[in-house]
Amino acid sequence: MIPKIDHIGIAVESIDEARGFYEAMGLEVAGIEEVPREGVRVAMIPCGESKIELLEATTPDSPIADFIGRRGPGLHHLCLASTDVRAATGELRDAGYRVLREQPTRGAGGCWVQFVHPKSASGVLVELSEPPEPAESERRPIGESR
Ligand code: ZN
Repeated sequence: MIPKIDHIGIAVESIDEARGFYEAMGLEVAGIEEVPREGVRVAMIPCGESKIELLEATTPDSPIADFIGRRGPGLHHLCLASTDVRAATGELRDAGYRVLREQPTRGAGGCWVQFVHPKSASGVLVELSEPPEPAESERRPIGESR
């Protein structure tokens, strides 16, 4: 199930420079996180039920560096919230859509993420994102012993 648009990803040269525009409209950066395996720094800006995600490359071979090199800064991907990214991965692949990873991987915020190739989605890179499982300690009601 896809309950909402989770966020819209924008490739930027510099988070420090790009954030000013959103802050000028009263939005606030909720957090900045580095995702080393993706070679990116990520700033999340909550906006209603969704977020704007600013993506800055941290390595020359980062997918974001590659994107900016080819097309310049701009809209990078659309992220749909998913209640089950693993199931969605199998369903999309079975239906003939091109998913980029064999299985979902951990993205910013510990979310499970998968990407669908733009050729399968009208020219748009689509990310599917499922929030991480709550920590073991948060999963059980207080006082329950098992
Ligand atoms: Zn994203």
